Amino acid sequence: MSVPAPAATAGLVDAFGRVHTDLRVSVTDHCNLRCSYCMPLDARFRPAAELLSFAEIERVVRVAAEAGIRTLRLTGGEPLLRPGLPDLVGRLVGIAGIEEVALSTNGLLLAEQAAALAAAGLARLNVSLDALDPQVFAAVARRPGLERVLEGLAAARRAGFRDIRINAVSIRGLTEGEIVPLARHCRAAGLQLRFIEFMPLDGESAWSGAQVLGGADVRAILAREFGALEPLPAADPGQPAVDYRYPDGGTVGFIDPVSAPFCGRCDRLRLTADGQFRNCLFSTTEWDARAVLRAAHPPADEAALLAALLRDCVAAKRAAHGIGTPSFARPERAMYQIGG
Ligand code: SAM
Ligand code: SF4
Repeated sequence: MSVPAPAATAGLVDAFGRVHTDLRVSVTDHCNLRCSYCMPLDARFRPAAELLSFAEIERVVRVAAEAGIRTLRLTGGEPLLRPGLPDLVGRLVGIAGIEEVALSTNGLLLAEQAAALAAAGLARLNVSLDALDPQVFAAVARRPGLERVLEGLAAARRAGFRDIRINAVSIRGLTEGEIVPLARHCRAAGLQLRFIEFMPLDGESAWSGAQVLGGADVRAILAREFGALEPLPAADPGQPAVDYRYPDGGTVGFIDPVSAPFCGRCDRLRLTADGQFRNCLFSTTEWDARAVLRAAHPPADEAALLAALLRDCVAAKRAAHGIGTPSFARPERAMYQIGG
């Protein structure tokens, strides 16, 4: 392969003018839950040798930062299952250009790791929690664990994390009864709650539009309890969530990728745990960074090749995911294999 000339660093701009500054880095596809919307019950995980090492992730992120990436989110699978994750956080926060490293976790291992993650420089935490009733939690996650998540949240606060976000996927026929309890709990505990619509990325390909409990439905349930919610202007133009204010103060966020796609302001790219760049959750193409990393290139050539791959990935980004349109194609990989 010939080594392309280094690009002028004009940022990672796609054909529609979207500037990409956020990279989601999946560190594993393994998980200690089996959420129905994310992976099959009999999920098979990749052997460790197929996952990028921390040194490989660091090399990719250095190139991505040089190209314009400013924020990172570590995800998975369950990222806290990856041994030594605080070590990776420490390596990434030190990279020139990276302004913030965040983490999405199911929280089961947070009690053990929150202090080390904070010490390593992790800036923000998103914890997924769909239900406060242990039976509903286990029906969604197909494993128990609610108590450990709540312990993990308490530990995260003791470790100094502020503005912790709770992400709750809403599924019709399953989680309606959890919406008000989650809202009450998060308001009382000072947690930033966000409801997310169920996307067609489940491991069993069983998604149907009928299962999507839309953001509007969730807002109607909340309004019956708390009064009408008022939408707020976006604090950050790239943010997928729209925040709403409760009549008596405090906010709740909605990520509505199915009913109100935000593709037009998407600023995200993804690196899967096995080293593939993706330009969208719904990408049907991947760009193989691991092949570059594992070929014997001199460091400068490797960096140039990775930068070219990233630019190709960005250039090929489609205008929108197209869920609900005739041309929509479900990606082969489920959410846990991509990195949410
Ligand atoms: N295991 C971690 C967790 O659960 O937060 C990180 C990975 S998980 C794939 C990241 C986020 O994706 C979680 O908030 C999860 O609820 C969400 N998610 C997974 N599958 C989804 C789907 N089909 N539709 C919408 N959100 C989904
Ligand atoms: Fe695991 Fe997160 Fe997927 Fe649930 S959503 S199965 S916790 S990776």
